[in-house]
Amino acid sequence: MIRKKIDIKITFNCNNKCDFCAQGAKRTFIERKTKSEVIKALKDGIKSQANSVVFTGGEPTLHPDLIELIKEAKRLKYEYIQLQTNGRTLSDMSFLKKIKSAGANEISPALHGSKPEIHDKLTNADNSFNQTIKGIINSKKLGLYVLTNTVITSLNYKDLPQIAKLLTYLKVDQFQFAFVHIIGTAWEKREWIVPKKSKVMPYLKKALDIGISKGIKCYTEAIPYCFMKGYEECVAEKIIPDGPVVDAEVFVENYGEYRRNEGKLKHKKCKKCVYFKICEGPWREYPEIFGWDEFKPVITK
Ligand code: SF4
Repeated sequence: MIRKKIDIKITFNCNNKCDFCAQGAKRTFIERKTKSEVIKALKDGIKSQANSVVFTGGEPTLHPDLIELIKEAKRLKYEYIQLQTNGRTLSDMSFLKKIKSAGANEISPALHGSKPEIHDKLTNADNSFNQTIKGIINSKKLGLYVLTNTVITSLNYKDLPQIAKLLTYLKVDQFQFAFVHIIGTAWEKREWIVPKKSKVMPYLKKALDIGISKGIKCYTEAIPYCFMKGYEECVAEKIIPDGPVVDAEVFVENYGEYRRNEGKLKHKKCKKCVYFKICEGPWREYPEIFGWDEFKPVITK
């Protein structure tokens, strides 16, 4: 089944305060969308033939109308109803059961370290690691599809293999390592939070090997093909469905196009690369910090 996705940021409120938060200060000027605004976005999605909705934020589970919004998505016959969450509130099994019975079938929790010393430091929230892990365990217990996301930063890149070990132990269905997008809070902290991709790669490849050896679907995001020799199948951009994003005050008609044309960038030397047509390049802020020396056009596959 081909997915046609709509991504709705239903609240900017959050119980974490991540050092890499791409939403930056949005929580200070817009708390959440109203129930009727979200329902309208859901109906518009159906009109444009979307079959998949991602409720995201901020932390979507903090929206007071979340359960009703999931029920509405189900009523409108969305096949895939996903929560992109930090997972903390899912440590409460009774709340998670309500989420599942309302119709959500995929949970995408964010895990940024294999231990509290790393995860809680990045989220600036005590006990967030324990709650996120409990949320993952609960989601698996209820038979929900669990696909995790880990943001790669200078604080956790050496920990990626340990994170992969933990995720395989928890039997998640899919995991993704996304290179930090240097906007929002990450832009403010860019002097220390962004690692060099070439330093990250040995740890990232080890982490992918751990997941692949256990038959888990593993992906990376914002790591171009020239870093991914032998791991090209893990490049997430190939499988991320295009679709609209309903953001705080803007509606992005097609986030995939935005990402390829504005968010990311390629260098003129990229024209020599065999992946030029399918590669999106790095987020454009990365070469502003580290330049283009690490990016080496691939001449043969
Ligand atoms: S097109 Fe450029 S960024 Fe993409 S893989 Fe090739 S050299 Fe790397």
